Amino acid sequence: MAEADIDDLIEIIEKEGNIEDIPKDLPMMPVRDVVVFTDMLLPLFVGREKSIKAIEECIEFDRYIFLAAQKDSEVENPKVNDVYDVGTIGRVQKMIKLPDGRIKALVQGIAKARVNQFTKKRKFFKVNVEILIDAEPEELDIKIEALMRNVKENSEKLLALKGELAGDVGDLLSHIESPGKLADLVASNLNLKVEDAQDLLEITDTLERLNKVNDLLARELDLSTVQAKIQTNVKDEISRNQRDYYLREQVKAIHRELGESDDKLAEIEDFRRKIKKCRMPEKCKIETFKQLKRLDQMHSDSSEASVVRTYLDCIVELPWSRSTNDSLDIKKACKVLDQNHFGLEKAKERILEYLSVRKLNPKKRGQIICFVGPPGVGKTSLGQAIAKAMKRKFHRVSLGGIRDEAEIRGHRRTYIGSMPGRILQGLRQCGTNNPVFMLDEIDKLGNDFRGDPSSALLEALDPEQNFEFSDHYLNMPFDLSNVMFILTANIADTIPSALLDRMEVIHIPGYTHQEKIEIAKTHLFPRKLKENGLIRRSIHISPNAMASIVSEYTLEAGVRGLERRLDAICRKIARKIAEGKKGRFPVTKQNLVRYLGPPRFMPELDQEESQVGLATGLAWTEVGGEHLYIEISLFQGKGELMVTGQIGEVMQESARAALTYTKANQERLGIDKKAFDETDIHIHVPAGAIPKDGPSAGIAMATALVSAFTNRKVNNKVAMTGEISLRGRVLPIGGLKEKALGALRAGIKHVIIPEKNKKDLYDIPRTVKSKLKFTCVRDVDEALEIALEK
Ligand code: ADP
Repeated sequence: MAEADIDDLIEIIEKEGNIEDIPKDLPMMPVRDVVVFTDMLLPLFVGREKSIKAIEECIEFDRYIFLAAQKDSEVENPKVNDVYDVGTIGRVQKMIKLPDGRIKALVQGIAKARVNQFTKKRKFFKVNVEILIDAEPEELDIKIEALMRNVKENSEKLLALKGELAGDVGDLLSHIESPGKLADLVASNLNLKVEDAQDLLEITDTLERLNKVNDLLARELDLSTVQAKIQTNVKDEISRNQRDYYLREQVKAIHRELGESDDKLAEIEDFRRKIKKCRMPEKCKIETFKQLKRLDQMHSDSSEASVVRTYLDCIVELPWSRSTNDSLDIKKACKVLDQNHFGLEKAKERILEYLSVRKLNPKKRGQIICFVGPPGVGKTSLGQAIAKAMKRKFHRVSLGGIRDEAEIRGHRRTYIGSMPGRILQGLRQCGTNNPVFMLDEIDKLGNDFRGDPSSALLEALDPEQNFEFSDHYLNMPFDLSNVMFILTANIADTIPSALLDRMEVIHIPGYTHQEKIEIAKTHLFPRKLKENGLIRRSIHISPNAMASIVSEYTLEAGVRGLERRLDAICRKIARKIAEGKKGRFPVTKQNLVRYLGPPRFMPELDQEESQVGLATGLAWTEVGGEHLYIEISLFQGKGELMVTGQIGEVMQESARAALTYTKANQERLGIDKKAFDETDIHIHVPAGAIPKDGPSAGIAMATALVSAFTNRKVNNKVAMTGEISLRGRVLPIGGLKEKALGALRAGIKHVIIPEKNKKDLYDIPRTVKSKLKFTCVRDVDEALEIALEK
């Protein structure tokens, strides 16, 4: 055929060729990715040179061409072995030459054939073939029919699943009566893999082929069902997402309409971000998100919303996992402590031990330290120094007068204006979960109908349970185990015993005269200079003046008053300098009056000489040790006893015991028997406005009584402390160190103490012992021997 004819050949063949007429030698064209079945109408794009040649050649063979599937579709230039040897003879129905040189041909499968021999291989393949005839069953029995019906039905189902029109195909299928043809038709539409299709093609037994097609069809049907299901799910998901998105946009629009606009959304988003950022335990996070969701659903101006908002604010600001790194360099810590405080050896030693243990075993739950001592002895500043040494944050809360448990543990959120307790508030302020947390005045904790704060405190402090401290406001556990709690108290007696049990008490009794001078020189004075903007050269305080400030202008166990006096001096000098005066300003004992006014305390002026009926006792109060006088007056009466001076029950009983002792020993003491019946006794303890109590003045009362009745003076340089029994035994007392310091301040020279307190002398500083004489006594007689003048 001429070239031009091929170019625009559009010819439709009406008449089918007879199988016998098909030439046995034919051009062969390898096809990729598809196996051609008989009766199949297939459009082919022919691009490879050899194939174009073959298809052009087929014109000469009555348009018959042998089509064989290529084993590997990747092979561009197939050899003999690259194609299957069973294929299909096709007849070109229509052929168009495309502008790019390729040929588009419509080919119909006519008959199955097997290659006997390749007769030409160079320009194109030419093969000698043998036609394969299908073995059709002789008659269609019921089994075959059932099989065919099954295949037809499944094919329709599959088509329906794929969304193709089942109706027409159904018609087509129903007209096929040969199992072989049915198998080929279905197989050619199943999109089978080349190997599977080739396998089918090579089966000449039509029944067997149909069976195989049936299997493949069933598999394809299953696959398509699952696929369809997945697709519906995906579709559902997409449409739900779209719906959510749409609704959310609508909600936004509604919010905007209501004037709530984007602020609220931004707020919610902000909270969400912060909650994620603060790394809280999973349980708490879930609860917090729940609250956030509630907030999201509320009107933003409602009072309830503001409660939830404050709550969330509190939660996100708590240091759930923020902490500072501990500095545990013991030498450095020691330096910091020494820099900040003079003396306090015992306390410093204990702190350094604590840090050392932490360094070696960071997991050890530390004991709670409690500093007990009078005001102004450096308890708080010691806590600050610890924080500084460890590079931790410091927070201080005063518990004085707290009676309500909610102060510690927070109010329930149902109350308007409810807040978390002081501990969590403190942590929130610190911003870290391992600060040094100082709880001041633990001894002033009260309790009443509003609950017992000490039990809440117990939970917070106890290392065994404080990793899950529950605050009522927070309503979820918070881990306090990293906090270093330090407590302070003025006296240990009133600390709730359950708390006391869990603490390690470090007593800071107060300073001696000499220690105060040292503290003033090394710490207080330099600090005051700096605070008042002065330089060292501008003031000089003489040693005499310093001693006088300590002894005549202050009377205290700590150094707070001393600090104030030094501050006053510095202030006055700062004024002079600011007014333009120049030079160095000396402060001497003589000109001290100009700075501080007249001396306030005259240690020895109180009682210039020994008197009858006046004994000096020693008391241990919150502000350290103090001396107190027991005055007794006798006057004519009927033997009545009167006790005044705001004294408590225990002290009153002491007075009665002292009187009984005196009466019982009247003869031995040389007192006239009638004296008791004809005199009234008045015992007064001056500083009458200050409540006093305790048994330790017993010995002083007995001494004053005997002195009054025997008219012998009590030595004014002697002070005494000790409880007495009716038999006159002297019983031990507490706070000896504080009392000794108090006695020294009062200018006492000689202190009588109970024999049983001898061991406590070990704790008394040597400087005190060098100035004070201590005598231990077993009974009142021994004390009288020393105290009463002859
Ligand atoms: P407290 O808490 O015991 O009542 P503070 O810690 O407030 O006492 O101390 C009062 C003042 O005295 C602080 O300025 C403190 O620095 C100072 N201070 C107390 N003891 C010493 C000391 N041993 N060395 C130096 N300064 C001290």
